[in-house]
Amino acid sequence: MNNTNRYARQQMIPEYQDLDKRLKQNRIAIVGSGGLGGLCSYLLVGAGALNINIADYDTIDETNLHRQILYREKDIGETKINCCKRELVELDKRANINTFAEKITKANFQKFTEGCRLVLDLSDNIETRLSLNSLCFANRIDLIHASVTAETALLAYFKFSDSKFIDEYGCYECLAGENATTAKKGITGPFASAVSAFVANLTMQVFTDRITEKLGKIYLFDLNRFSIKSFSLKKSPLCKCCGTTKEVS
Ligand SMILES: [Zn+2]
Repeated sequence: MNNTNRYARQQMIPEYQDLDKRLKQNRIAIVGSGGLGGLCSYLLVGAGALNINIADYDTIDETNLHRQILYREKDIGETKINCCKRELVELDKRANINTFAEKITKANFQKFTEGCRLVLDLSDNIETRLSLNSLCFANRIDLIHASVTAETALLAYFKFSDSKFIDEYGCYECLAGENATTAKKGITGPFASAVSAFVANLTMQVFTDRITEKLGKIYLFDLNRFSIKSFSLKKSPLCKCCGTTKEVS
C-alpha cells in the first residue's frame, strides 16, 4: 500500500501535510475505549497515530451499543479493549496497540505512559478523572480531558510539561474541585461521537503545534443549541493537586 495515497486528502490541508508523520513518531495513551475513547482512537489511527496505549477494564453489554460504535451485538460479553484493538488493527494493520485491561493507578501509570507525551482522559467517572489528573500532573505529562453529561460536554488541554502553564492555568482539579459530580447521566450516540471527533481534532492540533490559541481554555459544548463556548482556566491556590497553599502541620 502506498502511504502517500493513504493520507492524501488530509495532506491537502497545509497544516496537516506532515500530520501522519508526526503522529507516527509519537505514542499516545488513551484511558477509556467506550463512547469517547473507541471512536477517538479509531480516528487517530486513521490519521496516522499508529502507536497507542489504551486502557479499559470493562466488558461490552447491550446498553453500550447505541453509542460505542466500534462494538457489535456479537461482541457482547467480550472485553472492550480486545474488541477495540481488533477494530484499530483492521483499520491499519501496522497499528501497534498496547492494551491495558486494568484500572490505571499510580502502580501502573509509568508502564502505561512509557514513551508517551500525551494522555487522553476519556474515562466516564470522576474518581478516574481526578486520579489521572494527579498522575499526569506529578509526572508532567500533558493531558486532554473530555467528559460528556446529557447534552453538554467539557474539553480542555492541560500542558503539564510547561511550568508556566501550571502557574497560570492550574489543573483539572482546580476546575472540578468540590463541584465534581458522580451521578450518571444520559448520553446519546451522536453526542458521544461528536465529542470524540473534537478530542481527536485537538490531539492532531497538539501534535502539529497548532494549539496556542487553545492554551488555558476550557470548551463547553451544548449540542442541543449547537454552541461551543470557551472560558479561561485559572489556577486555584487551594487546589489539592497543584495548589501552592499547603496546610501547616
Ligand atoms: Zn489544580
